[in-house]
Amino acid sequence: MKIVRFRHAGRDRYGALEGDRVTPLDGTIEALTPAVGGSPVALKDVRLLAPAVPSKIVAIGLNYADHAAEGNRELPKEPMLFIKPSTAVIGPDDEIVYPPQTANLHHEGELAIVIGKAARNVSPADARRYVLGYTCANDVTARDLQRRDVQFTRGKGFDTFAPLGPWIVTGLDPSDLALETRVNGEVRQKSRTSQLIFNCDYLVSFISQVMTLLPGDVISTGTPAGVGPMKVGDVVEVEIEQIGCLKNTIAAPR
Ligand code: MG
Repeated sequence: MKIVRFRHAGRDRYGALEGDRVTPLDGTIEALTPAVGGSPVALKDVRLLAPAVPSKIVAIGLNYADHAAEGNRELPKEPMLFIKPSTAVIGPDDEIVYPPQTANLHHEGELAIVIGKAARNVSPADARRYVLGYTCANDVTARDLQRRDVQFTRGKGFDTFAPLGPWIVTGLDPSDLALETRVNGEVRQKSRTSQLIFNCDYLVSFISQVMTLLPGDVISTGTPAGVGPMKVGDVVEVEIEQIGCLKNTIAAPR
C-alpha cells in the first residue's frame, strides 16, 4: 500500500494511492482509516506533501562502506546518530533553498524508515512491528559547514534540507533495494540497501534504546558513495526500487 499526504481543496490529509487515484484517509499516522464519505481524487489534481510529519529525523552517518572511504573515514563500530530538525522537512517537488552561508551544497540519497507505533527498547526481531513503511529521503548537506563545525546541526539542519517522499510504501522488505541519486538526469549515486553496514531492523532497535521513536518519526539510514555538489536550478532525484522517485529543484535564497 502507498500512503500519501496531500493538499486538495484547501485541506491537508492522508490518503491511499492506487494507480492514479488517491482515496482520503482519516485518523492519525498511527491508525489511518478510510475516510467516511471520502471520494477518490485524481493524483494530478492534488499537491503531494511530505508523507510524514516527524517530531524528529534521526539520521545515520557513514552507514555505507564506500561513502566512509570517499570521506577518508574509518568504518563505525556502532551507528553514528545525528538529528535533523522537523523544520527542515519538505515534500516532493518542493524547492531546496541554497543557503548563502554555504559554497558546497551536497545531495545524499537515502532510504528512510517511517515509524508507525511508539518504539522504546525494541529488539531487532520486533523492529518491523513498529515500522509503518519506507520512503525516499535526501539528507541535504552544506558540506563546508559540516566540516567546519565538526558536528552536523548547522550543516544538515537548514530549512528545506530534508526532502521526503513521494509516499510511504508499507509491507516492503527493505533489505535489498536499488537506490539511485541523479542530478539533472546524471547518475551520481548508485547502490543497494544490502550494502548498509547497520540494517533497518538494527537501526530501529539501536535508536529505540536511546530515545523513544514516535509515530511519524523518520530514520534516514545513510548514504552510499557519490555524494556531490548541487547548484541553483539543478533537479535532484532520489529513486528507490519498489518505492518511487523523490524529485526536488535547487532554488536561490528568497
Ligand atoms: Mg546522510
